[in-house]
Amino acid sequence: MTLTPAQALAEGRRVLAEVFGYADFRGQQADIVAHVAAGGDALVLMPTGGGKSLCYQIPAIVRQRAGLGVTLVVSPLIALMHDQVGALREAGVEAAFLNSTLAPEEAAAVEQRLMRGELTLLYAAPERIVTPRFLARLQALHAAGRLALLAIDEAHCVSQWGHDFRPEYRELAVLAERCPGVPRIALTATADALTREDIVTHLRLQGARTFVASFDRPNIRYTIVEKDHALRQLLRFVADEHTLPDGRHEAGIVYCASRRKVEEVAARLQAAGLRALPYHAGLDAATRQRHQDRFLREEGLVMVATIAFGMGIDKPDVRFVAHLDLPKNIEGYYQETGRAGRDGEPANAWMAYGLQDVVQQRRLIDDSGADEAFKRVLRAKLEALLALAESTGCRRQQLLAYFGEASPPCGNCDNCLQPPQTWDATEAARKLLSCIYRLQQSGAAFGAGHVIDVLRGQATDKVRAHGHERLSTWAIGRELDEATWRRVLRQLVARGAVQVAGEFHTLHLTPAARPILRGEQPLHLRVVAEGRRAERAARPA
Ligand code: ADP
Ligand code: ZN
Repeated sequence: MTLTPAQALAEGRRVLAEVFGYADFRGQQADIVAHVAAGGDALVLMPTGGGKSLCYQIPAIVRQRAGLGVTLVVSPLIALMHDQVGALREAGVEAAFLNSTLAPEEAAAVEQRLMRGELTLLYAAPERIVTPRFLARLQALHAAGRLALLAIDEAHCVSQWGHDFRPEYRELAVLAERCPGVPRIALTATADALTREDIVTHLRLQGARTFVASFDRPNIRYTIVEKDHALRQLLRFVADEHTLPDGRHEAGIVYCASRRKVEEVAARLQAAGLRALPYHAGLDAATRQRHQDRFLREEGLVMVATIAFGMGIDKPDVRFVAHLDLPKNIEGYYQETGRAGRDGEPANAWMAYGLQDVVQQRRLIDDSGADEAFKRVLRAKLEALLALAESTGCRRQQLLAYFGEASPPCGNCDNCLQPPQTWDATEAARKLLSCIYRLQQSGAAFGAGHVIDVLRGQATDKVRAHGHERLSTWAIGRELDEATWRRVLRQLVARGAVQVAGEFHTLHLTPAARPILRGEQPLHLRVVAEGRRAERAARPA
């Protein structure tokens, strides 16, 4: 039996009410259900919490009722599969999963139910699906007209540019070949243009209709602070923003870049009286599971974690997500911060960011062993994130613009709430670049400390030993203090005009320095309290 979109929608509404107990579709769910249940291909880009599951679950039920057979759901996350199948069964839907947690005889039983046509939804891990044995079963179902729909969840896993790349996802292209004519829906909460292209190409979705929901999470307040004493800043943030009248604190996640740092930060938070737990891939499975369970069940725990933690974690009342290290790119930042406030109540995304972060991320890319083309993409993605971190405009506007969405200033980010004062640092940047240039000409490379000493006319031993007080750039930057010079430098590193290299963190100019040196590219920096006097002096009256 075939369905028109109108019939599919009417039937879908009935399922929404009877099976799921909801009165109305949300956002684009109605359009997606009508299109997919009637047999169309779709690519769905919707933020976390937007309601993606119903976009394939309802078409699955509608098509099963129309006698079209079973829906196969590809999911990379075992925990999520279990949750979804459990919830569907409770709602009276015949659902099952196939993954590595099943004993062979259990898996065989599920496959028998599949072949007997008893299932409405089957969730399976991608590596299971692409085995010859399983593909043969799918083809048999397809030949008998009993394969109703293919749903590919977390479809961004197909893209090697993202942080969740799973090579097995690439092999899912075989589904389009082996099961022609079966409608397919791919879903993801990651929506940058490159990822989208990858999904379309690698999953053969050229003919699919694309549904893009707004990626705005209006209840999340974005704040990015300059790193000073990151841990102290974090403790102050939690004390100020997330402490309840009775002294307990709210639930949050603190992301760090390394296992070692996770352990260290968790211990420091505990020492400061916070209920904090570590989570990273170096802990044994039982400990990880225990910490995750406690985080989900108990109130007011802070999970200090690497990005190994979070995908598929559905805790609605995470009140803050803090970053003590810079994520790799904007998708990462968006996904990680998106774990805050899934219940729609106010939540904070807070990040502390400093020069060392920029240097470290750039070095990770340089040392990654990837080919040049790949590195270029990684660098461009990092730069977009750095621009967000350095921005003096609305953070949300910039974040959404990255996903191709235009929006007005939000009124709910640090820069909207307290518009930063800025000063024109173009001239200062030129001085700094000239100084690096002169030092380079003198035959050796130097680190930030020495460059700033020369700029500020500090006659240190090192300066004298090299005779640097004779350079034309000697003491041309007396008007700014050292902290301010470091801020100017960070901005230049963020823009890729200066490279920090080698064991001694020496500074080097790149071609991107040229337009700034020529004064063709203005540079505006935020006025920071302690450097204010010096900056005021540097500004023209
Ligand atoms: P996603 O997979 O996009 O992160 P989910 O599918 O898990 O989102 O849905 C998020 C929450 O919203 C779930 O609790 C779900 O039951 C609820 N939800 C989804 N659609 C609707 C709807 N039409 N009406 C009410 N609640 C909904
Ligand atoms: Zn804003």
